[in-house]
Amino acid sequence: MAAQPAEALAATGVTIRDAGPDDDVAGVKPRWVALPESTEEVAAVLRVASEHDLAVVPVGGGTKLHWGRPPERCDVLLDTCCLNQVLEHAAGDLVVRVQAGVTMGQLAEILAREGQELALDVPDPEATVGGTLAAAVAGPRRLRYGTARDLLIGATVVLADGTIAKSGGKVVKNVAGYDLGKLFTGSYGTLGVIAEAAFRLHPLPADRRWVTATYPIAREQVDGHGERRFVNDFPVDPFQVIGPVATSVAEPSAIEIDWPEVMFGPFTVAVLVEGAAAEARAQAVRGLLEAHGAAADVSAEPPPWWGRLPGDEFLVEIRVPPGEIGTAMAEVSSAATGDIRARGSAASAVLHVALPADIAPERAEHFVADVRAGVENAGGRVIVLAAPEEIARRLDRWGKVGALGLMRRVKERFDPGRIMAPGRFPGGI
Ligand SMILES: Cc1cc2nc3c(=O)[nH]c(=O)nc-3n(C[C@H](O)[C@H](O)[C@H](O)COP(=O)(O)OP(=O)(O)OC[C@H]3O[C@@H](n4cnc5c(N)ncnc54)[C@H](O)[C@@H]3O)c2cc1C
Repeated sequence: MAAQPAEALAATGVTIRDAGPDDDVAGVKPRWVALPESTEEVAAVLRVASEHDLAVVPVGGGTKLHWGRPPERCDVLLDTCCLNQVLEHAAGDLVVRVQAGVTMGQLAEILAREGQELALDVPDPEATVGGTLAAAVAGPRRLRYGTARDLLIGATVVLADGTIAKSGGKVVKNVAGYDLGKLFTGSYGTLGVIAEAAFRLHPLPADRRWVTATYPIAREQVDGHGERRFVNDFPVDPFQVIGPVATSVAEPSAIEIDWPEVMFGPFTVAVLVEGAAAEARAQAVRGLLEAHGAAADVSAEPPPWWGRLPGDEFLVEIRVPPGEIGTAMAEVSSAATGDIRARGSAASAVLHVALPADIAPERAEHFVADVRAGVENAGGRVIVLAAPEEIARRLDRWGKVGALGLMRRVKERFDPGRIMAPGRFPGGI
């Protein structure tokens, strides 16, 4: 073993620099930044890290480093920006293989030249392939195409000890039997570094239409004393609107909800239809939406909020069983105080809720606890994706995590020395 970690890192031949003030990971300052250019260079850095017990956090575009718990420690920030090659685009087979630091913008541009796309709707062109997989957020078209995990067909990962492992390729003894790509999707860098990924592609649709309609959640009532007040009792049940559209012959690619004022404001349903006869199918969707008493619009452009999270500083994700989106919305509405916005993939039963970053910590705590109680009761989950530091300290980020024992065993197998983004995941993984 080389005498000092700095010398050992330098001896790998990988570009290493001292970390600066902009390199913090959720407030934790690394000592060095490593900029590997190949999978072998990633492996060389991780070998040194594991020999010297250096904690490593991978970073792509750096747009979501504040998601998940801050790492317990971070010595090396492993920046994937130089892993930026599209390795193979087999257009005839609708498959692409890329290094993990390729940005989603760069990839979209290359695929569009052949009339193809990776159907993930990532709105930030600077987000990387590796970060998108590791953060595992899915956008509107998950309804038709699935999530990143579903579109991923192969991955090359580097484990904490520097072992290079491929899913679908050569079997490495300590990971035999695991589907590495699926395991590393949503892993927040806690299992190792995603170095390469191969995805299934789709042809760019010839035509697209968005159909939107807005529905109230509140009714004005007059009580026994003649006082007028609003009662948010959802006169139009969101699932009654969405269900028939999801199963209709119009075959929508996405059904989204935007709900900018959760307290009493209306919600908008937007439906995307793509491909052949998009206009005629959109008109069929319009009929279904208008059956609930709202006027619907058909447009060739998405609404401005389409595919974007409702906020980022304090963001909560709610997942419920299919058909329970109305339950999630009712829980959010009854726990809400103040300026809370929500948006979600209605048919996939996922809702993202943005709270003001300056909300009083105890109110935030009550909101999360109240919504979680109702949502867990309906078989769903409430996860705090991001929160201001003072609030995050008081909150249970993950709620009930069913498979914690299994997750711990996987972590122990992949990273027994706990050097990969330690502490970022549920249960301190
Ligand atoms: C469909 C979709 C819709 C989205 N909508 C929005 C939106 O509306 N607004 C918004 O702000 N964001 C949105 N996002 C998220 C956004 O695209 C993220 O910025 C992206 O997913 C993270 O990419 P990044 O390169 O910035 O990752 P980073 O922020 O660099 O990293 C994210 C996490 O992944 C880990 N990581 C990074 N690279 C690797 C690697 N190679 N191996 C292992 N772990 C790694 C990091 O340690 C960190 O925990 C969306 C994402 C998707 C897929």
